[in-house]
Amino acid sequence: MKKCDYCGKEITYFEQYCCDECQRKTLDFYDYQAKYSKLFGVVNAVCVMGIPIGLFMFSVVAPIGFTMMSLAVLILGLMIVIFPFPVENMISSMKLKKAVKVTRIIGAVLLVTGVALVILDLIFFLKF
Ligand SMILES: [Zn+2]
Repeated sequence: MKKCDYCGKEITYFEQYCCDECQRKTLDFYDYQAKYSKLFGVVNAVCVMGIPIGLFMFSVVAPIGFTMMSLAVLILGLMIVIFPFPVENMISSMKLKKAVKVTRIIGAVLLVTGVALVILDLIFFLKF
């Protein structure tokens, strides 16, 4: 059985989406992704590199390393919540609606972790 590209509902072989709403939401998503994918890619790359660099710095100058790593996790989480762009194989296996939801949950978990790390950083390293 073929499934709607957006919500995963079963459809006939002649259709791509189960309803106009799903088609519109899919087009909106790809517009949004096309508009922000560059920004997302750059910030993503900086944050993903920031985590190991922060960890390395941590062994040299602990407060700086910890601050870097905490901010990298926080910004990465925030970016993923705002721009929940799933990877291609997630979209094909889960369909767009669920893939976006799962990606946003991953972002939220990172964001909460980042907030917790920043609070720990403020208390233990920056001594606020
Ligand atoms: Zn649908």
